[in-house]
Order: sequence, then structure tokens, then C-alpha cells
Amino acid sequence: MKRTQILGIIVFLVLAFFPACQDDLPIVGPDEEASASLFMTKSVFELDENLLLIQAAMQRVDSITPFFDRFTRLYGTPLWQYALPMGEEKRDISYLVPVYKEEIPKIIHTIWFFDIQGDTLRYRTITRENDHIRAYQQDFVFDELSYNIFGDESGGELKFEDPPQTRALGKEYYDCHYGIIEWDGIEVSRGLYCKERTVWISETIDYTDSNPIIGGETGIGGGGGTSNNPPPGSITRANLIQKIPDIKKRMKELACGIDDVDIVLTESVCTSNAKVEVDEETGRKKIILCYKFFNYENQDQMSILYHEAYHCNYDEAWSSKTGISLVPPYYLQIPPEHVDYLLKYEFAGVTNPMSFINGEESKIENLLCPEYYKNEINAYSAEIRLNPSVSEKYVLERLYMLWKQETLYNYSLKHYKH
Ligand SMILES: [Zn+2]
Repeated sequence: MKRTQILGIIVFLVLAFFPACQDDLPIVGPDEEASASLFMTKSVFELDENLLLIQAAMQRVDSITPFFDRFTRLYGTPLWQYALPMGEEKRDISYLVPVYKEEIPKIIHTIWFFDIQGDTLRYRTITRENDHIRAYQQDFVFDELSYNIFGDESGGELKFEDPPQTRALGKEYYDCHYGIIEWDGIEVSRGLYCKERTVWISETIDYTDSNPIIGGETGIGGGGGTSNNPPPGSITRANLIQKIPDIKKRMKELACGIDDVDIVLTESVCTSNAKVEVDEETGRKKIILCYKFFNYENQDQMSILYHEAYHCNYDEAWSSKTGISLVPPYYLQIPPEHVDYLLKYEFAGVTNPMSFINGEESKIENLLCPEYYKNEINAYSAEIRLNPSVSEKYVLERLYMLWKQETLYNYSLKHYKH
């Protein structure tokens, strides 16, 4: 509780801006179709023009390399209306957008940082645990954002009060606030906290931050966008329609015909590779391809399609459609070989990946009927048997998923109650 720091200078600009994430979203169960939009804003708040441009740019990046779902799962929801601008030039300005996770109430743990210079927008996420944030005692900014949002209920260590005057220290330091630490209602420490704009754009700091999942550089104000070319020969959103006859032919060769099944693009957020939907009235089936599907190589895509085709042809009926909530949650004990896969492919570059792997990734809060898991085991097993030539990443992904479904099947047999 001791804190004598007088001046906090924002020095965590990390120049190692990473390209928009190209790896895949973590797999989630069918119950977890995230509906949160990264762009929902309370309509009463008028966002400034730059923030609207930033939102548009991020939507464009997401349409090329989807990251929304993963972002929401890892970090939470950006609260655009509480964005803190830093700097004043129209085209040379940074924004700190607080990202709020309901599981961690009343405090901001992640900032989505945007920096506009000319026509280039650079962005990345920064968490409170970031080494540089700690080393340079910049966590007051997280407290300030928490305080702006939650007021006296903020879970942050510092409470704030209006500064004696802004820009008290001249051009270099601005937006100064008194930060006050209270303990049992008694003020134990007070200090002046300011932001320093110049450091944000300094090119001299060259940290390789290790928290780059959502970060990159893109054009702002139309066009642009960091484009990740799809793997050569793969099915893309643009060529899907033309590829459908080939896909159906291939499935027939694998004794898993889907002539009467539609193959369509997702119209909403879907976080798996693909899924099957059955029309309640007509019984007609549709394979829905999620955004993530389009990041895979062609052999992987065919294997994923086979998996869904298998569901269409061979799934057993579920004994119940309702999942049961597990309180407390059940935690998977992920074996080392699958942890290796997650580290290498799913959580590469994430700060403290093990905290995600032992946390979100292992946590099962909703348990489905055993038949659900049995169908998955059957589909993954058949897929692996009949589609042996896939990328190394997908080989490992399938094995992990198979293990997970087997584990949950056994758990469901014991603990699922109608
Ligand atoms: Zn499946």
C-alpha cells in the first residue's frame, strides 16, 4: 500500500507492433457462440470521428482475419465510450480503449491501444500484467480507466480527483490527475499522475512485448487493411460457390454424401471451424462455415468438411438438448502433448499462456448430454482415419479435440443429469 511515485509517464509504447493475428481461434463448444460484438456502443455516447474510423478499420481487419471471438474470450468487451484520447493532432493521436471482462468485475485489466499517425493505424492490446507496464509503473492508467467507468466502486487501487490544472507541467506532461490511495477511508498516499505524449511516439523504445495477439497495422479511412492471403488452393469466401460441386463429389467418394445439404457462410459470430444446423421444420441440414475455416489449407478444409458431413450422415440423436451448468466448473487436466500444441499454435505470443490454458481453455462450465460428445468422438475418429494428409497444425488440433471430447464424454456419462 505504499506508493510514493509522483509522476507516471506512459512509456509502454511498444514498437514491436505485430501483424494482425493469423493463428486460429481457440476451439469452443457449441454453447459458447459468442454474441458480444466488439463494436456495440451505447448509442447515447457520441464517439469521435477517429474512433469511428478505428472501429471501421478493425471491422475490416476482422473480415480478413477474424479475431473478434478470440479477443472477446481473452480480454472482454471494448468500452469505446470510455476511450481516453492522448494527443491532440487529428492525425497524430493515440487512444486507450478500456476492455472489460465481466468475470473480473469493476476493474480494467486490458487496454486496446490505438495509435494513428497519418494514414496508418497501429494497434495492440496491453494488459496490466505486462512486464513493462509494471516496470514503469504505468498501471495507474488502468486504475484511471477503471475509475472513469466505475467511479468510487472501481476495484483499482487508485481513486482520482480532478487535477489542479491540466497541462500543469507544460507540453510534455498533460492530463494530470491526483491519484489517491485510500485505506479504510483514510488517505494514505496522493500523487500527481500525468501522461506524456512524446514518449508514445518515441522511436527509441524498442521492447518486444510478449502480448501481441491482437495487434497490427492497417490503413485508416477506407481501403487498406492488412490482408492475409489465403493459403494457395484453399476454399475462400469468394470461390466457395464454385467449389461446392467438388466438395460434394469428394464427400461421396468418402462414402459420406451431402448432396442434399447446403454449404453456407456463417451470418453471425461462430467460433468453431464449421457446424451443422438442422431446420426444425423441414429437417434439412446445412453446413455453416465459420470465418476461421478460411484460414486453413485446402486439405485441412476438406477434412473439416468431412467432419461436418459425418455429423450430417451419422449423428445419433441427443437424449437431451439442454446443457447443465457445472458449479463449480470442471477443469480438464490437459496432457503435456496437447499443452504443447496449444502453446505452439493457439496461444503463441500470449503473455502467460499457461494462465489461459489452465483457465479458460480447461474450464468446462456447461455439460452436454453424452450423445453429443459421442457424436464428436465418432466424427473426429472417422475424419482422422479418412483424411490422413493434413497440416501439422491440424493433425495436432484434431488429436487435441478428440482427447477433449473423449474426456468430456466420460465425464458426461457420470455427471450429466436430464
Ligand atoms: Zn463436430
